[in-house]
Amino acid sequence: MTAKIIDGLALAKAMRTGFADRVGALARHGVTPGLAVLLVGEDPASAVYVGRKIKACSAVGIRSFAEHLPVSVGNAELLGRIVELNADPDMHGILVQLPLPPHIDMPRVLETISAEKDVDGFHLYNVGGLVTGSTVFSPCTPYGVVKLLEHEGIPVEGQNVVIVGASNIVGKPMALMLMARDATVSICHAKTRDLAQYTILADILVVAAGVPGLIVPQMVKQGAVVIDVGINRLPDGRITGDVDFEGVRRKAAAITPVPGGVGPMTVTMLLENTIKSAERRLALAS
Ligand code: NAD
Repeated sequence: MTAKIIDGLALAKAMRTGFADRVGALARHGVTPGLAVLLVGEDPASAVYVGRKIKACSAVGIRSFAEHLPVSVGNAELLGRIVELNADPDMHGILVQLPLPPHIDMPRVLETISAEKDVDGFHLYNVGGLVTGSTVFSPCTPYGVVKLLEHEGIPVEGQNVVIVGASNIVGKPMALMLMARDATVSICHAKTRDLAQYTILADILVVAAGVPGLIVPQMVKQGAVVIDVGINRLPDGRITGDVDFEGVRRKAAAITPVPGGVGPMTVTMLLENTIKSAERRLALAS
């Protein structure tokens, strides 16, 4: 068996074309979706991610800006800026790029962003909403995985899903989102004993550990769907996922490549959340 390659780039492109239409519809009501991105400090990877987000916004007609705050910024100043943006009617989404410097109170920052503008889906209200089904915004990376599965027509209900990685931004919300779709979900992490005894049972295996080559063919069930969320830079500069792609593709029914799988969907879902926020506000106002 050779797996179908799930093309995240193609789905991301198709979705972004649809976004331009939705932005056009909002414009007819005098609304331009707006996204504010706050970047603290000089982390080069963060600067690259922020640059990509701003560029993607402008390509679909979202008005966005990145505000660069020095690494020395205090908690009060950062929180004050978020409060201003919460009150700005032109901004439908607010995002604080993570990671933040250690002196910044990250939980407080995330809770200060209005849940109605929390397009990253990290506010406690939105995190809790994943449990109860009342979330305003779903976190972008697991939301992108759900969209990929839907687009590929891969059923989730009743399937054994194993998630490798239990972070707040990927693994845990992924588990909740797939539970909400009636999958049977197991979550593994760095302290899991004998990872393979779990992964081998997966009909759908989602891997978000940040360990290149963690998943090898012997750990994968014949015919499984394998979603590789990992993004790792190898010493030679190449980007690779957490799955031994060449080995596992011979066993899986479908697999996401890295790059070109989940990655392009993450920014796409940020655009989706920002447009959705503007649409929600317009609906509430009319
Ligand atoms: P994280 O470091 O916050 O969490 C990693 C998780 O994996 C932890 O729960 C840890 O216990 C688990 N883990 C680590 N080593 C393991 C091992 N050997 N076996 C089993 N579990 C193990 O990372 P994160 O922010 O969730 O990101 C995970 C990966 O996904 C990274 O490579 C990151 O770059 C990537 N990522 C990609 C996107 C995207 O858009 N595609 C978005 C976010 C993160």
